[in-house]
Amino acid sequence: MSLAQKLAEERRARLAAERLLELKQAELFAANQKLGRHARALSEEIVSTRAQVETIRNENQQVKSDLNVAHQKVEIAERRLWHSIETIQDGFAFFDVDSRMIAANRAYLSVFDGLEEVAPGVHYTRILQLMTEEGIINIGEYDPANWRAMMQKRWETPSPPAVVIRLWNNTYIKLIDQRGHGGDVVSLALDITETVRYEKELKEARAKAEAASRAKSAFLANMSHEIRTPMNGVVGMAELLADTPLSREQQLFVNTIKNSGEALLVIINDVLDYSKIEAKKLVLHPEPFDLERCIHEIVMLLQPLARDKKIDLLVDYDLFLPTMFVGDPGRIRQVLTNLLGNAVKFTQEGHVLVRVVGVQPGDSPDTHIHVTIEDTGIGIPADKVDHIFGEFNQVEDERNRKFEGTGLGLAITQRLINLMDGNIWVDSEYGVGSSFGFRITLPATETISDVAPILPERLKKALIVDDLSVNREILAKQMEILGIETQCCASGAEALSVLDDTFDVVLTDHNMPGMDGIELACAIRETGSDVPILLFSSNSTYAEMEAGKQYLQAILQKPTPRRELFARLQALGADIDAPEAELTPTVLPDDRLMRVLAAEDNRTNRLVFSKMVKDAQIDLRFAENGEEAVTLYRDFAPDLVFMDISMPGMDGKEATRAIRQLEKTTGHHVPIFAMTAHAMDGDSEGILQAGLDFYLTKPLRKAEILQALTDHRPDGALAPHLPPEDQAALAT
Ligand code: ADP
Repeated sequence: MSLAQKLAEERRARLAAERLLELKQAELFAANQKLGRHARALSEEIVSTRAQVETIRNENQQVKSDLNVAHQKVEIAERRLWHSIETIQDGFAFFDVDSRMIAANRAYLSVFDGLEEVAPGVHYTRILQLMTEEGIINIGEYDPANWRAMMQKRWETPSPPAVVIRLWNNTYIKLIDQRGHGGDVVSLALDITETVRYEKELKEARAKAEAASRAKSAFLANMSHEIRTPMNGVVGMAELLADTPLSREQQLFVNTIKNSGEALLVIINDVLDYSKIEAKKLVLHPEPFDLERCIHEIVMLLQPLARDKKIDLLVDYDLFLPTMFVGDPGRIRQVLTNLLGNAVKFTQEGHVLVRVVGVQPGDSPDTHIHVTIEDTGIGIPADKVDHIFGEFNQVEDERNRKFEGTGLGLAITQRLINLMDGNIWVDSEYGVGSSFGFRITLPATETISDVAPILPERLKKALIVDDLSVNREILAKQMEILGIETQCCASGAEALSVLDDTFDVVLTDHNMPGMDGIELACAIRETGSDVPILLFSSNSTYAEMEAGKQYLQAILQKPTPRRELFARLQALGADIDAPEAELTPTVLPDDRLMRVLAAEDNRTNRLVFSKMVKDAQIDLRFAENGEEAVTLYRDFAPDLVFMDISMPGMDGKEATRAIRQLEKTTGHHVPIFAMTAHAMDGDSEGILQAGLDFYLTKPLRKAEILQALTDHRPDGALAPHLPPEDQAALAT
């Protein structure tokens, strides 16, 4: 090989080596760079890890110090808890799941004073054993083994019932043990010695108070009996004396005796009722009764007084509310009499209106009854409204001072309503009038469909004539509910001017200024119209209306019971359909005297009774004892019996039982009224149980007897004669 070739070869080899070198250098550079980056990343990672380690170290330190603080707090809380547990007077201990004591406070351990064994670690069974063996517990007649077995059994139940134990020193301890989730038991031993002593004292005091209250009730019962019996003589004789010829002065004396006697009786009754309510001795006697009738009877009693004062007494009884309910009619009557009596007493002009509405929720017979008694009387000053329900509280001002009363009526009324689970309230404006209202819930014994009337189809439009707008409103409302269109007039003259043949009936008031109801009826007939006319009158005797009767279809007593109004309207249908039919007579032609038997052993009382009914035109026979009463019942067949209860030999209850026995063969039931001087509760029950239907308390009042006669007159017997002054006597 030539030199040149060699040189060229060498050069090529050198060039190749140089290129390789370059390549390797580039690779080395790249590797260097990569290494540099890696080293940087690594050092960054180290820095961040270091920071993290620092943070964790800090946090660790915080946790450690928090733990320390928490530890201290727990220690303080535990110390305080134990301190408190040690401080309390009652015993406190913990037991573990195996019934070994974990800890107990001083009070717990003090019971076992001197017994070193009772300390943490002791078993509950051993504690029980020590209690009986060392005489720590007073188990009375109990056998120690039995007692321990009983206590052990109790301890083992999941939640042991509290138990009271008595220690040797008469300390009473109530043990309350509670088992925790893990089976631990917390045991509390409460010292209830004071409570037991107090309870014993209370029991003794209560027994004493009950004995005193019984003594008071017995005293009241006796007092009422003792006062009532002579009062029968005083009031009865005064009533009889008033019927004899007397000089004006003597009349005044007699009336004063009678009124004072009756006022005294009202006071005795009020005080008696009030004491009974206070002694929680007053019990309600629920029985079926007719609420509407009850209201109307009270209104009738007050009617003469209201008529004298020229104020109207009105009743607006919800047309679609049942009237038969179960409640204590005597007490409901007492409430109504008091509220209505007050309304009439404190009203000088205008009217007194009783409104009754009610709702029957769902299918339940329980009816919420809402009664309001509104008057246009003297009203009550706003600052006295709350005061009047208090006992012996009356509004004292110049308007009020002239009225009599005990101030107990509303206190009793409120308590009676509360006893019936109801409530009572009053709205009043001084000088304008008052409205007393109460709400009670009573079960109804009939449904709305029993009371809703079906009226004659042709009765479509009525003309209502009354000078008093409230009256017109009530009647119009009632008619409209029944589907009858109405037009109202305030006077007879106005009625005549609007009357045409579109009216199917005229409902007119009797007493109106200018043309009265009878004059209006006469004037209507003179126009040739034969539209049926119903007259509403608050006069209790029909005699004065005899003349106008020929123009009228019916005369209705005002306020009119709903059934009566429905019956009259229904009867009109018959009249319209058969115009030639006879007018409905208001009093049936009866031809025999009513037979009345009165059993009474006391001569004076027989005299009083016979004088009281002397004008009533009845056939009266007396029996002087029970046997005679039974014999007379058989021979005389009375329509009504008045029966004295306490008679020598066979008393009133026995005689009644005998009569009821006899009646089983005839199937006829004669109404029997008990006459009794007992006014306390409980008496009435015995009387009613013996088969008597009603009872009158002595002193008997003429009005009550006459009312009984009227209420129980059988068909075919002459109506007992009721002179207007006897009606007036009813209201006083
Ligand atoms: P009494 O009527 O026997 O005084 P009450 O307890 O029934 O006792 O009534 C207490 C008082 O409440 C009455 O004396 C009277 O001042 C007032 N009062 C009661 N009802 C009415 C009423 N309708 N209008 C005005 N004042 C009345």
